[in-house]
Amino acid sequence: MRYFTCILLIFLSFQCFAGFDDLFLNRTLRIDYYHSGNAKTESFSLDELIQEPTWDRNKNQLVYPFDYGKYKFQAFDSLSDELIYQTSYSTLFGEWQTTPEATTNNRSFHETVLMPFPKSTIKVEFYSRTPANTWEKKWSFYIYPNDILISKENAYQCKTRQLLFNGDPSHNLDIVIIAEGYTKWQMPKFRRDAKRFMNYILDCEPFNNYKEKINFWTVEAHSEESGTDQPGQGIWKKTILNSHFYTFYSDRYLTTYDNKTLRHLASNAAYDQIIVLVNTGKYGGGGFYNSFAMFSSDDNLSNFVVVHEFGHALAGLGDEYYGSDVAMQNFYPVDVEPWEPNLTTLKEFNKKWKDMLKPGTPVPTPVESRYVNDVGVFEGGGYATKGVYRPMVDCTMKSTKYNAFCPVCKKAISQAIEFYTK
Ligand SMILES: [Zn+2]
Repeated sequence: MRYFTCILLIFLSFQCFAGFDDLFLNRTLRIDYYHSGNAKTESFSLDELIQEPTWDRNKNQLVYPFDYGKYKFQAFDSLSDELIYQTSYSTLFGEWQTTPEATTNNRSFHETVLMPFPKSTIKVEFYSRTPANTWEKKWSFYIYPNDILISKENAYQCKTRQLLFNGDPSHNLDIVIIAEGYTKWQMPKFRRDAKRFMNYILDCEPFNNYKEKINFWTVEAHSEESGTDQPGQGIWKKTILNSHFYTFYSDRYLTTYDNKTLRHLASNAAYDQIIVLVNTGKYGGGGFYNSFAMFSSDDNLSNFVVVHEFGHALAGLGDEYYGSDVAMQNFYPVDVEPWEPNLTTLKEFNKKWKDMLKPGTPVPTPVESRYVNDVGVFEGGGYATKGVYRPMVDCTMKSTKYNAFCPVCKKAISQAIEFYTK
């Protein structure tokens, strides 16, 4: 009995007091995998496990508190079955599944999950969000920290600079800016561009409230040629990240499928969030929750694009615009509450910004001059004119306006920054 009590106490103390140093080394475990399928099915398969030299992220909140994103990752201690790490994110694969191509063909996308390097054997589980907004387990396996095939090499060592340093990366939001489409001789331009983009972020509300809690890093990755691919114009450039416009045939949709190289390059710096700065004057960009944000360096609307795409990547914000030629079809089923904090179908509005409405504000809210500066529930958002609602008549997530996030988007961005800076 005493033996049993002792075991129980050890177990309980593990449950209650196991902290970062009990469970993890101060290193990163990078899980690289392929996410494959079509509009109806998906599967996951392992590419490679990699050990990166440090864990520079939050050590106090290992179970990610926000229920955002298309995918969720969990790690469990294999003996106690305790949940020891959780994160969630979105990727290109999830968007591609909604395109016409996915109804007639299969594709594979490379993806990455990062977690602190475990001291003991862990079980990892990958979940996808179902159309009904529930989580479905898709893949699970064990990781043995002593596995000799966990790679320890850094394939792409690049010059890395601290653009702005406010202190310990584990208590600050660390943003890494990676050069794409800049030749070796264009690095002075990249340094100037990166500084300009850093200031676009720091001068925009609500980021300006956290100027002393954000670190910026640059990774000076050289490309053989300047610019990026513009398939619609027959332009193809040899660049380090293989970025391209016309993602899913949308001319302004600028992304990369080369996640492997992206993660190799990012690992040169401490980072919570990745920004890829593409050396081009053509308007465009893309942003994926907790994956990366990408945009062009020299467009007239660059200051707007950076904060808009970074809003997707950092805070999981949805697009509040509609009626455009975006390639995604039926992106938000109108009978399901979307996970994005700034969109609602009014199915579970209690979980959204209901508490931010002034008393007496009608739901839905008509687009009338008396409500133009109020938080409300305005029909049209998430690419749909009907059935999806946004919080304000206008917002940086709706129009090409810099420094005009609505109060709901500002709150979501602030909560995300505060998670990284605790
Ligand atoms: Zn908004």
